[in-house]
Amino acid sequence: MAAHDSVERKYVYDFAEGNKDLKDLLGGKGANLAEMTNLGLPVPPGFTITTEACKAYLTTGREPDGLAAQIEAHLESLEREMGRRLGDPDDPLLVSVRSGAKFSMPGMMETVLNVGLNDRSVVGLSAQAGRNDRFAWDSYRRLIQMFGKTVCEVPGEEFEHALDEIKRAKGTHNDLDLDADDLRGLVDAYKKIFAKHTGREFPQEPREQLDLAIRAVFDSWNAERAVLYRRQERIPADLGTAVNVVTMVFGNLGPDSGTGVAFTRDPGSGAQGIYGDYLANAQGEDVVAGIRNTVPLQELEQLDKTSYDQLLGIMARLEEHYKDLCDIEFTIERGKLWMLQTRVGKRTAAAAFVIAGQLVDEGLIDLDEALHRVNGAQLAQLMFPRFQLDHEFEAVAKGIGASPGAASGKVVFTSARAVELAAEGEAVILVRRETNPDDLNGMIAAQGILTSRGGKTSHAAVVARGMGKTCVSGADELDVNVPAKRFTVGDHVVNEGDVVSIDGTTGKVYLGEVPVMPSEVVQYFEGELHPETTDDALVRAVHRIMTHADAARRLRVRTNADTGADAARARRFGAEGIGLCRTEHMFLGDRRELVERLILASGEREREDALAALLPLQRADFIEIFREMDGLPVTVRLIDPPLHEFLPPLEQLAVNVAVAQERGEDVAKEEALLAAVRRMHEENPMLGLRGVRLGLVIPGLFAMQVRAIAEAAVAVVRDGGTACPEIMVPLVGAVQELETVRAEAERIIAEVVGDSGVEVLIGTMIEVPRAALTAGQIAEAAEFFSFGTNDLTQMGWGFSRDDVEGAFFWRYLELGIFGISPFESIDTDGVGRLIRIAAEEGRAARPGLKLGVCGEHGGDPDSVHFFHSVGLDYVSCSPFRVPVARLEAGRAAITTTGSDSR
Ligand code: PEP
Ligand code: MG
Repeated sequence: MAAHDSVERKYVYDFAEGNKDLKDLLGGKGANLAEMTNLGLPVPPGFTITTEACKAYLTTGREPDGLAAQIEAHLESLEREMGRRLGDPDDPLLVSVRSGAKFSMPGMMETVLNVGLNDRSVVGLSAQAGRNDRFAWDSYRRLIQMFGKTVCEVPGEEFEHALDEIKRAKGTHNDLDLDADDLRGLVDAYKKIFAKHTGREFPQEPREQLDLAIRAVFDSWNAERAVLYRRQERIPADLGTAVNVVTMVFGNLGPDSGTGVAFTRDPGSGAQGIYGDYLANAQGEDVVAGIRNTVPLQELEQLDKTSYDQLLGIMARLEEHYKDLCDIEFTIERGKLWMLQTRVGKRTAAAAFVIAGQLVDEGLIDLDEALHRVNGAQLAQLMFPRFQLDHEFEAVAKGIGASPGAASGKVVFTSARAVELAAEGEAVILVRRETNPDDLNGMIAAQGILTSRGGKTSHAAVVARGMGKTCVSGADELDVNVPAKRFTVGDHVVNEGDVVSIDGTTGKVYLGEVPVMPSEVVQYFEGELHPETTDDALVRAVHRIMTHADAARRLRVRTNADTGADAARARRFGAEGIGLCRTEHMFLGDRRELVERLILASGEREREDALAALLPLQRADFIEIFREMDGLPVTVRLIDPPLHEFLPPLEQLAVNVAVAQERGEDVAKEEALLAAVRRMHEENPMLGLRGVRLGLVIPGLFAMQVRAIAEAAVAVVRDGGTACPEIMVPLVGAVQELETVRAEAERIIAEVVGDSGVEVLIGTMIEVPRAALTAGQIAEAAEFFSFGTNDLTQMGWGFSRDDVEGAFFWRYLELGIFGISPFESIDTDGVGRLIRIAAEEGRAARPGLKLGVCGEHGGDPDSVHFFHSVGLDYVSCSPFRVPVARLEAGRAAITTTGSDSR
């Protein structure tokens, strides 16, 4: 086998040497080809070059020592096994060279088929195929085309044009009408194109073809679209790809050959049954590329019953072996079935839940594993609204519901235009005949994708499902004319900029904007759909898995809510209290006037009057919230933003004053406000007079709020309810700040609650780095901490939270400084470290200190796992995120050995 000494790394593995657990090293495709080989399934022999080899190549710019010799040894052994030599003129062995990273990146990286063909072996191939010249020359022209484009960067369109040219000369649209002579002529044309662009002849030496193709696959790891896809999918940039060198089998040898893609269950709905596309007399990529319309896999039964039955048997075996939905690629070469790929298949969010439930029923997995197999991002998707359809809306076309959701937007026909309009804030639907990897930017920018060709396994469908983006594919009633920027369907002409709506579940296409309604899953959370009575498989699966998550989780889940209505909805969604009630909205609207009075108060008396007028309003707010959250804790945060935020902007006031003066009106009040705004102006308001600092500077402000909270709690308790208020002080950086506020608050609380039985906790936000670093001291004066991760991120990184995301984060993401905005998902190394320190030191100083988080990160799946690992008691997030946090908290609490749900 490999000629390497004991210190040399093993870079090449025969399929028989690997297994499915070696994805890091062999990539997903290589590991699963090995697994299938070892299961005794019909896999064309071959070998895998490891991701280690790729990484070494990408770091140093050259193949690592020993790789060439190992490839040679494995190739020789493959040649022995097959009884043919690579590119042999009389009886050639041909191979495909295929990428395969740890995580599937559909269509992002390169593949070269038919390596080993040249001017001489093309004749040998024809003989091998029973004097099938047409097939041999077609294979050769495909090699030059793929090799040229992939390995030597020859523009793909040039080959397309040459092919179109020959078809035009022949008066046909169909590749199959071209005969051997036409294809031989095409090979000549392709070779000229190759030579023109590369300055050299197409390489005739098979081993050189192989080495260059391997190198091109390595390089494709860093192709722009691959980089973009990884960023989108949060796949680490340093994994590298493996390269699989696989004996070629041919699906294009005639009507008894073909190629297909299949799923062991419906990846859209999760329904049991065989699901796939088949294309007779075609080679590998034709199906995925959506170039010709496929037939449903079931039709294979009529075409080739033996292969069909064998395939069904293999699919059942794979499901049982992988204990999950598998997708496969296969080829039939003259009635002989070959398995080219399998993997645990991508699926829609709905299918993920339904399948996890089914597999539990089938006894293949337990509930922990089922919980592990779904995730919060999928649940969030299932909570998207859907179309509300009545007789007014009639579909103008029906394609395949390739990726669910409901999307409306302006029609665009190019990726570039999609990006342009999306940047202007427009919702767009990208309409194409079919998409290809170059459309990725546009697909990311669009609300939805609509194609006139391709099946459920076309590029558009696979990529959209991966992104959770609505997609309808293969709507073949649409006649898409990209250069003219329009499509026609029936009598309708739809131009760029016209609005259409697409339903990725039913595959229907509507003209104009269709209104939307809540999804079934939201209706379930709202208590309007009951799992016991509905026959909706999704609702039943969600209920079952959520119930298990709730039983498993250690983290409690609260909500951020500052109105009774939000509190009530969050409670229906499973919130176990309020983790953050921001009180600032209670100072807006018609209460602004009272705030102005407070700010303009010239003496103690006026200020007290203004506060006294605010008190009953605040009390009423809190009563409503305590009632909705009866029996559950409610953390009320004392006012946080700088008070001048409640005043009109300086420019507006200045204009008002000038206009009023001009008219000779009394401008005393406006002038006073203007002067106050000028006086209170801050260069950096986020670092200015806000939070606890306000409470210490403006006498009576916090006292009024504390009194309103305590009085509201007493009122609710006197009415027979249970109020559990927790008063939270924002922006504390030093324990002395908290002590001062606490002393006054305790006095007021004692006075108000009397013997009512109401208990009020006092705690603080930890959102200033200094607070995190002195948490041991602060805990002496706090009964709870709630991490304000928005401010902690802002101050930890020194990133103004209102400015940076639009200003330069794109560049930071591009440079890989972070993979996702730290405002979206917690930066575990930096900001997370502050949290860890504060949690440990706070608990050391005060055992039993209650710890929670109320920044935006409380509803972010990855962050929830981090908060679980740090030992927080709860997370708090917006009402719609509550189910997501419940699910992820459950997932964080279980440990399984199963596959990742990515
Ligand atoms: C925070 O800073 O994380 C927080 C919850 O407070 P706000 O977003 O209101 O500043
Ligand atoms: Mg804050």
